[in-house]
Amino acid sequence: MARLPARRALLAAVLGVSWQQRLLGHHVVPAAWRRRRFSAGSRAEDSSPVTPMLKHLMFKIKSTGPITVAEYMREVLTNPVKGYYMHHDMLGERGDFVTSPEISQIFGELIGIWYVSEWMATGKPKTFQLVELGPGRGTLTDDILRVFNQLGSLLNKCDISIHLVEVSPKLSEIQAFTLTGGKIQPELDVTSPVYMKGISKAGIPIFWYRELQDVPQGTSFYLAHEFFDALPIHKFQRTEKGWREVLIDIDPEAPDQLRFVLAPSTTPATELFIQRKEVRDHVEVCPDAGILIQRLACRIQEDGGAALIADYGHNGNKTDTFRSFRSHELHDALTGPGTADLTADVDFSYLRTMTQGRVATLGPLNQHEFLKNMGIDVRLQVLLQNSSDKAMHKHLLQGYDMLMNPKKMGDRFHFFALLPHQRLAHSDQKVNLRHSRSLSATVAGFGELVWK
Ligand code: SAH
Repeated sequence: MARLPARRALLAAVLGVSWQQRLLGHHVVPAAWRRRRFSAGSRAEDSSPVTPMLKHLMFKIKSTGPITVAEYMREVLTNPVKGYYMHHDMLGERGDFVTSPEISQIFGELIGIWYVSEWMATGKPKTFQLVELGPGRGTLTDDILRVFNQLGSLLNKCDISIHLVEVSPKLSEIQAFTLTGGKIQPELDVTSPVYMKGISKAGIPIFWYRELQDVPQGTSFYLAHEFFDALPIHKFQRTEKGWREVLIDIDPEAPDQLRFVLAPSTTPATELFIQRKEVRDHVEVCPDAGILIQRLACRIQEDGGAALIADYGHNGNKTDTFRSFRSHELHDALTGPGTADLTADVDFSYLRTMTQGRVATLGPLNQHEFLKNMGIDVRLQVLLQNSSDKAMHKHLLQGYDMLMNPKKMGDRFHFFALLPHQRLAHSDQKVNLRHSRSLSATVAGFGELVWK
């Protein structure tokens, strides 16, 4: 058995086995299944830079003038007809980018443990919703549900439901296949905000929505992994004449191409979004993220639960992070719109400000530390010991390296949590302050996981 840190060793002694073995079993998800292929949808337009989306945007710009970067991102990513996310599967080796849950099952399992740990810390409510924003292929929720299933003895009296917020018809179809094996029903009631529903392989009801506001209120655990970075940002540049918003216009020297320009004067967005004390010369602001965080904070304040947000980002110090990825390579953000991902680093300090003190926040903490605290090393050892397949060992070790290596995802991705104030105040009473443990140390991931 792998060597366990002292507190875990105590737990293991109580449980008689490694806590990871006890809690999660030995199940290794076959690598081939994790890399399963779905139809990537039609990308016939990829070969020509003059995409239908480019034509649409040029028409718009010719009619009403240059557009903001936020408008460009919103149209390119989520336009119902030609948006990048809407009609093809961009995740994985054959797509444009790969995410942590697609790399290793361990990632989703540890996130599942985080939710169970928070559920226990908040008094084991009898009912809760797991709400995922932007679930991609559904892999992360699937891995979390496997943990819930294996912890059946703990959760069996709990009424759990899954609520997925997803705009993409193509990805929701893939999520439905991953989570229910295809057993879904379209919602026939046109007044219902639910557009699809199904039952998970273990019998948990699943509902799909287009917006967070449509998800019913109630004790909820929220999850957003690589979701906030896809929300539209405004970009601003400091000039000698003051702040100017960066806009997108047609290049007069190449009529099939777009280019960045500066607004000739201040715009309402400049007045609204740039803080007086700002010291940077270039700033990106994501008002949609601010609104979403306010909604999450209000819900958690009123109904309890927690939110875990994981993304690449910074603490209010980075400048120009807007970029595009296609086939795992950096791509010109203004070329072939609709055929490549657009993304900007998440400003966690802005998210913290936008909670307006309604909830406590923890992080951002880098992925390496968060997963270490969650016990990734022990889980890896358990999975390695329970498989004799060399290819599986290689897959697990490569996945671990990708998630944890500071030069890969370990340092780039960060975890940020919203928790009810009483969650930390409550643990405060249990903490022996003479040992001056910080409050964050009582929340798994931000401190070492201790299974009570
Ligand atoms: N969380 C997944 C997928 C990340 S990709 C993973 O880590 O693997 C971003 C996801 O957010 C996709 O599912 C995309 O369709 C969804 N998405 C993007 N913008 C959205 C929006 N405005 N509303 C709801 N879902 C959105």
